Amino acid sequence: MANIDYQKMLDEVAAELRDIDDPGEVATYIPELRNVDSRKMGIHLVTIDNSHFYFGDSNEKFSIQSISKVLSLTLALKIVGDTVWDRVGVEPSGSAFNSLVQLEYEKGIPRNPLINAGAIVVCDILVDCLDNPKFRLLEFIRASTGISSIGYNPRMAESEKKCGYRNYALVNLMKDFGNIHNEIELVLDMYFHLCSIEMTCKELAQTFLFLAAGGVSPVVNEMIVSPRQTKRINSIMQMCGFYDEAGEFAFRTGLPGKSGVGGGIVAIHPGKFSVAVWSPKLNKKGNSYKGMKLLESVTTKSQSSIF
Ligand code: GLU
Repeated sequence: MANIDYQKMLDEVAAELRDIDDPGEVATYIPELRNVDSRKMGIHLVTIDNSHFYFGDSNEKFSIQSISKVLSLTLALKIVGDTVWDRVGVEPSGSAFNSLVQLEYEKGIPRNPLINAGAIVVCDILVDCLDNPKFRLLEFIRASTGISSIGYNPRMAESEKKCGYRNYALVNLMKDFGNIHNEIELVLDMYFHLCSIEMTCKELAQTFLFLAAGGVSPVVNEMIVSPRQTKRINSIMQMCGFYDEAGEFAFRTGLPGKSGVGGGIVAIHPGKFSVAVWSPKLNKKGNSYKGMKLLESVTTKSQSSIF
């Protein structure tokens, strides 16, 4: 491993996949996401000793969408610890990220914090215990990465709100079951902003590096969460990070990771690296078509899956 030439590997991966036919489609159910140039493709890999390797559009901001659910979970775990698990489970859902059916059967307790319902409960927790949760979340992300330019895209947040019918349904159902404690509008405002965070592949890889380094961010040299919480976050990403395609990602790539409908995916190799990819066209399960292939090729070429 020590001798892997990551840049050569990324160049090979890019050359293989840049021009393949991409049958995916850009997400359209959030109007603002339609405006993205679907030909974009970038990748950035950062090792825990802070060496950087990249190609393509890796320095261009995009909507990280659901990837940010890992960051809100991390902040909630820091603040309220294991009590998070009284209100949200840790099992893969095996159903769509915005599904209502399971939530009805399971009495308003979401399967895990990375589906929409679970992330909405985490937002409720943050609204409960922070004065200005939107600001505090950004402050947390900026402080743990040292990147002050990371922010929300207000147009995206507004666009999510305008067509967030299912998220309204989820929050109402959970409110009825007693698993939402605050005003619905406040909780969804937090949630829609969470989904609107933008980063480049480089920023995304750097942001998640603490999860590859036992909870300590090598970027700012600070403990973000304990090794125990790090283990838990990584295991949840492994099992639940890819909608109902988490098994496929584990099978093909073999790293904990999280995807978003903006076409981004981040994956980490504990003790080694964090890698972020972006390619906006999504496969039928809602994961970046090329992104999935890029990461499979990275772990195949570097022989560096966790399995
Ligand atoms: N903002 C999206 C929604 O709530 C989440 C998208 C995603 O899974 O990346 O529908």
